[in-house]
Order: sequence, then structure tokens, then C-alpha cells
Amino acid sequence: MINVTKTFLPSFEEYTSILKKAWDREWITNNGELVQELEENLKAFHDVQHLFYCTNGTIVLQFALKALDITKEVITSPFSYVATVNAILWEGCKPVFVDINYETLCIDADKIERAITKDTQAILATHVYGLPCDVEKIEAIGNKYHLKVIYDGAHAFGSIYMKKSLLSYGDISTCSFHATKLFHTVEGGCIIPNKEEIARKISLYRSFGHIGDDYYSVGINGKNSEFHAAMGLALLPKVDFIIQARKKIFAFYDSLLPLGIVKPIQSMDNFQYNYAYYPIILENEKLVFKVREALANKQINVRRYFYPSLNLLPQIKHPIFSCPISEDVSSRVVCLPLYVDLKEAEIELICKIIGKAIQ
Ligand SMILES: *Cc1c(COP(=O)(O)O)cnc(C)c1O
Repeated sequence: MINVTKTFLPSFEEYTSILKKAWDREWITNNGELVQELEENLKAFHDVQHLFYCTNGTIVLQFALKALDITKEVITSPFSYVATVNAILWEGCKPVFVDINYETLCIDADKIERAITKDTQAILATHVYGLPCDVEKIEAIGNKYHLKVIYDGAHAFGSIYMKKSLLSYGDISTCSFHATKLFHTVEGGCIIPNKEEIARKISLYRSFGHIGDDYYSVGINGKNSEFHAAMGLALLPKVDFIIQARKKIFAFYDSLLPLGIVKPIQSMDNFQYNYAYYPIILENEKLVFKVREALANKQINVRRYFYPSLNLLPQIKHPIFSCPISEDVSSRVVCLPLYVDLKEAEIELICKIIGKAIQ
């Protein structure tokens, strides 16, 4: 069976040799030394000042909205994983969808201004597939209208824009370290605020709002364990290898896929891609079903990332947003298998089946 993704694991011994330190200390959670070490290493990796390692990539979106006092309208992208909009709804805010740009598949910065109302407080945009949003334009809009800017960087680990980590932009960036992501800690995520005062709030949110016997604010449980941090410490030194291996697979797909398939991820100026996903856009939705079925017959599972366009979800009741580009792309997009030990023969087979199915 070939799945769309396969979790990259260190050797069992690599993992347990790191975990053993926590075992020996008999300290397995509550800001343990492995969590602290992982945070320091992640800060160095992304060259950022503040970073908090948390339980997952969803709660950190909630922390971001809460720490920035966002309670009303949030402009967001309809082309993302459902967690992005669920976090907005869960925090009691109102998502306002702005359509995507067909080139980058990220929110179309040129359409943001017309969606701003007196209740708009923030822009929460996803660097979808690890491709960069138009961060300069979005920052300018944020400054002009006094809006906070949050990036859901769940796909962006290792992507570099203008010589900086893509996770270093905005008032806050977040990332997911779920097992399906490029870098993972089984479950996990992080939040990168760019201001000290926001960082202080988040450090309290993450562990019930108190430090020892001193109570400061509302808080919840967003901290992660030594078992999870140990996985991160084992994998972080391998990220460059992981990205290079994915890059090779990516190039092999590029060379083999038949004509007539849109490959939305193309090289961009000032941008180093992390090769997190290999999406293809087919001519119509019928072909998506046909390709998916032809591959499934050979035990190859592709996924409709990202479908449906989030403005069409049942939890979005009012108003009706029209996002024609996102609706169109999400109906025709499929992500192909992409993981470190995917074999060339498997890629050849996948491309052959796709070629036949779309004939
Ligand atoms: C995976 C993902 C999340 C959620 O991350 P979890 O760690 O699974 O909670 C959020 N946003 C996007 C865009 C994602 O792909």
C-alpha cells in the first residue's frame, strides 16, 4: 500500500537514547528539559526569539487569536485544512473568506481590502502547501487598517522566504508537528509570537495560567510531553536530509507526469521551497474521481487536499461566501504520495496510472 504520506521515523535506538534522559530524571511532562531543549533548537533553526512548543497545530491557532484579543471578524483563506477555520469559530470569532490567488493558492492579498469592515480585527492566512502568502502586501494592509496578522504555517516548516524562515512572519506564526507533516513530534505544534508581551500571555495560556503557586490569567492545557519532544529532538537534525530527499522525488514527478496536468508548485523568486506536498490540478472533478479510483485499485491512496473549499463547510451558515477560484481548485486538486522512502519505481507506476486515467 502506498499512502499520500508516510511518517518519517528515526531509528528506535535514536529515539530511546534521547527519551532515556527524561526516564532517568523521572520527569516526563510539565516543561521538562527535553521540551526546553527542543524549543531552544527550534528557535535557532527558525532564527526567532520566541517560540512555544505545544500540543498540536490547532490549539496554537486558538492561542494566537486569544493572545491578540481577536473576538470579531477574521479574514481568512478558504483553501486550507479545516483546522484553520475551526479555530476561528471555536474562539467565537467570525470567519470572512477572501478568495485565493490562482498562482500561489494562498489568499489573494489584492482582494483583502474590500472584505474589511468596522469589525475586522485580524487576517489569518495559510501558507498553503508551504508556499508563501504575499507577506509584504498583507503586512502593509495590516498596518494601514490596524489589523493583526496571523499565519497558519502548518505546512511551512523549512520553507525560506527572503532568506528568513517563512514561520518568522506576521504578528504570530504557528506550525503543526503532526505525524503527517514534514517535521513531526507524533502530535505537536508551535507558536511563534514576535512580541515579548504576547509571548508572556501564551506561556501562561499553555499551562493553566499559573506559574507554581502564582496565578495570573485564564489558561488551558496546551503543553507537550517529554515523549513528544524526544521525537522532535531525534528528527530536527534530519530535516535537511528529509527536504533534500523530497526534492528529488518532486523532480522525478515533474519529469514523468503527463502533459495536461497543472502542477501548481513552481519555483518563485526569493523562495526556497520545503517540498511538503505534491498537488496536481486535473481538468475537472470527474477526472479526480477517475484518477483516485485507478490508483486505489493498485492500493495507492491519494487525498483531496484541500477539499472542500472551507467557505462551503456546513458550519459556515451565514453569510454565503463566494470564492470561485478556491471552489474550482479544491474540486480538481489531488495530492500525490510524497515521503522520504517513496521509490522511483513507485513514482513511475503512479504517473503511468494517472496518464492512462486522464487519456
Ligand atoms: C495539520 C494542519 C493543522 C492542524 O494541525 P494539528 O497539529 O493536526 O492540530 C492546522 N492547519 C493546517 C493548514 C494544517 O494542515
